[in-house]
Formats: sequence, structure tokens, C-alpha cells
Amino acid sequence: MIDPHHISALQQMVGANGATTKAADLEPFVTEWRDKFIGQTPLMLSPKTTGEAAAIISYCNLHKIPIVPQGGNTGLVGGGIPGLKNAQEILLSTRRMNAKPVVNSSDFTMVAEAGCTVSAMQEAAANQDRLFGLSLASEGSCTAGGITATNAGGVHVIRYGTTRAMVLGVEAILPNGTVIDELSGLRKDNTGYPISQLLIGAEGTLGLITKVCFRLFPPELSRATAWLAVPTPQAALTLLGKAREVSEDQVSVFELMDRSALEFTYRHIPGTRDPLNDISPWYILLETASSALNSAVGQRMQTLLETALTDGLITDGAVAQSLDQRSLFWRNRESISEAQKLEGGSIKHDVSVPLGQIAAFIKSATEALLGTFPGVRVSPFGLLGDGNLHFNVMQPKDADKVAFLEQWEAMNRLVHDQVIAHDGSISAEHGIGVLKKAELLRTKPAAEMVAMKAIKKAFDPNSIMNPRCLFD
Ligand SMILES: Cc1cc2nc3c(=O)[nH]c(=O)nc-3n(C[C@H](O)[C@H](O)[C@H](O)COP(=O)(O)OP(=O)(O)OC[C@H]3O[C@@H](n4cnc5c(N)ncnc54)[C@H](O)[C@@H]3O)c2cc1C
Repeated sequence: MIDPHHISALQQMVGANGATTKAADLEPFVTEWRDKFIGQTPLMLSPKTTGEAAAIISYCNLHKIPIVPQGGNTGLVGGGIPGLKNAQEILLSTRRMNAKPVVNSSDFTMVAEAGCTVSAMQEAAANQDRLFGLSLASEGSCTAGGITATNAGGVHVIRYGTTRAMVLGVEAILPNGTVIDELSGLRKDNTGYPISQLLIGAEGTLGLITKVCFRLFPPELSRATAWLAVPTPQAALTLLGKAREVSEDQVSVFELMDRSALEFTYRHIPGTRDPLNDISPWYILLETASSALNSAVGQRMQTLLETALTDGLITDGAVAQSLDQRSLFWRNRESISEAQKLEGGSIKHDVSVPLGQIAAFIKSATEALLGTFPGVRVSPFGLLGDGNLHFNVMQPKDADKVAFLEQWEAMNRLVHDQVIAHDGSISAEHGIGVLKKAELLRTKPAAEMVAMKAIKKAFDPNSIMNPRCLFD
């Protein structure tokens, strides 16, 4: 139990608008959107300024009160949910730290407060003829602080990199309450350990990110989008190489989808349909883009498809001739997760392997799964250009969903063993949170775990920042 005396002291630091204690008001913030994690907390604090947040963290450090930071609550590994397994933790939400992002178009930079949504940042950049390079299905809710703390990926990593590549520096409050400010937008700064870089991907365990300075890009003014049928993942990989060459390295999306993932989508999601006549085992959503207004992206796409057809890398394809057609391609792709949910139980694996290992990984992991869990429907899709697969496994038809989901951990272990055997990572995009702690411990080399724990101890000796996340 957190002492009521502390609760009221903390409430006073943010005023009436910044503190929430009623269970009904707290409910959406302690519940993960899929209901996979449901926590509890006696208090949510929503500071408006860095100063207020620093005062809270200093106080909590002094009194050893654990804090769970939260942005948009779209994380998929339970890292932003307080009070799981009856832990007593304060929830620190950045939702009120959401002033309009400040864009510096000549520097190609943008500084955003931690609670700004990705959509708001995209809009602010676009209003100044600049592009914020991150795009993901949760962009209406996920925040500058959240994407930085999780090093989010999304569909454009192949072109603009992960969040880490886009962050030039952060302002953050360390667990002892001191504020570091690395927002100057420097591209080059070789003055010892990069503190901002340590906070990226740390999932709130090393401090609270309060502002982020992001790198921006010129907007994409010409675009070509294609929906392609490919015979195998290996052919898709060869196609990626060709696409990079022919497009003058302007590939901005390269998504691989298994036919079964799309079957679920066409079955369950209104407004989706197969753009092609014949059925193929695999598909690619390919987009190329240029910052020049009348660039020949369309012509180069046609050249690519003709060569790819001749070489047998694709068996069919359609290039979007209108915004409606492009929307259809994207709706098909972006509805996959929702469709899998409607189809039944689905056990998720967000993994990555080196590009050259993708085909071998898909083959051996699928064989291993079918050998151990007969009847399961392996339904992978993902960002092939980044070696990232959402290697999702659907319950057998007519199986009991609850019984199927009870195999989550055993199935994770089997798939992760295959990932490690192919030199991959058990978390490509979503992080470790609380969900993958045991698997991290099992699969990460011991020397790296020791180094990570030493960093945590140096930053947060009282273990107040997200203490159940990453490791215990
Ligand atoms: C439909 C859907 C699609 C998604 N697609 C993708 C995708 O394509 N790629 C991808 O990478 N992820 C994806 N995600 C996962 C999720 O959107 C990302 O992990 C996102 O970065 C989380 O941001 P958030 O603001 O919601 O953070 P939260 O969920 O609130 O928090 C996530 C973690 O960050 C910590 N945190 C949050 N804010 C701060 C802060 N200011 N300082 C320190 N720590 C903080 C939390 O403690 C927690 O550990 C998707 C999620 C959904 C629901």
C-alpha cells in the first residue's frame, strides 16, 4: 500500500486537473486495448510541465515509490500498465504534455512534448512542408515519448529508419529527479556516452522522456504503390533488391503477407478485397516515393514489374491508378491484425532475423510448429525489408480459444528457439515489457544481461522507474 500521506503530497504537485484516483476514471489507463493486461493503481498523475514531472520523480525517489510511465497506452507488451500482479505503483501519464510540436523547417527538425501523438507530429511537419518519417497503425494514439521509449518501427523503417534513427536527442528526467536536455538538434556530438540513446528503447526503466527532438525529411510528392503476387519469400527478397536498384533506392514500403492472413481479412473486414484474380501463397505491398513533384516513380515501377514478371519473381500485380485503389491496398494490409482477432485465438511473435535468413526461418519455424501443435494456422506478415515478421499463429479451426491461448508460452519458446537459431531477435519492434521478460532472460547472452542490469543500477539505484519492466 502506498501511504495516503504520499498520495496527497503527490496530488498537490499537479493540481486537481492532473491527478486521478477514482477507479472508473483510471480504468482505461490500467487496461491494455486487447484486455491482455489489466492492472490497478491508487493514483494517476498527469503533469503538464517538465518541472512538475521532475518534482514527482524526485519525491518518489526519496520515498522509494515505484512509477510506471505511460503515453498513449498502445504498447503491446504490458510495459505501460501499472499494478500488474498487485504491485503498488503510481501511473505517470504524459497525456497533458502535448503542446503543438515546434518545427524548424530549415534545420529539418521538430521538438515535441512527450504526450504529442504521432498523428499530431505528422500534421505539424506536413504543415511546414516536411515529413515525419514514422508511420504505424497506432499513430492516432501513440506518443512521442512512447515511440521513443519503445524505439518503435512502423512501415517506413526501410526508408527512414527506426525511431532511434530519427531521434536527435531528448529532454528527460532521470530517476534521481535531475533533468537532462539534449534537444539542440546536433547531428554530430561525440562527447562520451550518449544519454539520449540509452533512454531510447529503455521502455521507461531509465527515466521519463519529456521532450524529443526528431529529424525530419522532405515530403513525398510522387508515389507509386503496387500489390504483387510472389511465389515465395525468397523471390520476395530478390524482388526487394531489384526494387531498390530500379527505383533509385526509393523504396519506402515493402511488406510481405501470407495468403491466409489476407483470407481472414477479406472474410472479416468490410471494404477489403483481393485486388488480383489468381490466388498466390504470398503477396507484397510495395511503395516507392520521391520528394520531387513529377518524378518518374510510376514509370520505374512499371519497368520493375515487367522485369520481375519475366524473371518469375512475381506472378501477377496491380499498380494503384487512383487514391481509392491505393487505399484498398493499404486497408487490406492494415486490417490484418484486426482480422486475426476476429478469426479466433492468435499467438503473436514480433521477431526479426537477418534478411538472408527470412525464407529459411519461415520454413523451419512453420515445420516446427506444425510438428508440435498440429492444425495451427501459421499466418505471418511483416516488414520484409527490415527482416521483421509478425509471425502470428492462429488457433486450429473449431479449436477451443482458451485452451489454444494457454499454449502461448510454450509456442513462444518454440518460435524463439528458431529465431535464435537464425541469428535473430525475439523482439523486433514492440519491446520486452513484462510479456517477454522470461524469454529475454532465456535467450539474451548472459554478459549482455549483466551489462543491462549494471546500467539500470547506475541510473536507478532505488529501482523506482518501471521496476517490473525488462527484468526483475
Ligand atoms: C494497432 C497497433 C499497431 C501497432 N503497430 C506498431 C508498429 O507498426 N510498430 C511498432 O513499433 N509498434 C507498433 N505498435 C505498438 C505501439 O503502438 C508502440 O509500441 C508505441 O511506440 C507505444 O507508444 P505509446 O505512446 O502508446 O506508449 P505506451 O503504450 O503508453 O508505453 C509503452 C512503453 O513506453 C514507456 N513510456 C511511455 N511514455 C514514456 C515516456 N514519456 N518516457 C519514458 N517511458 C515512456 C511505458 O512505460 C511503456 O513501457 C502498435 C500498437 C497497436 C495497438
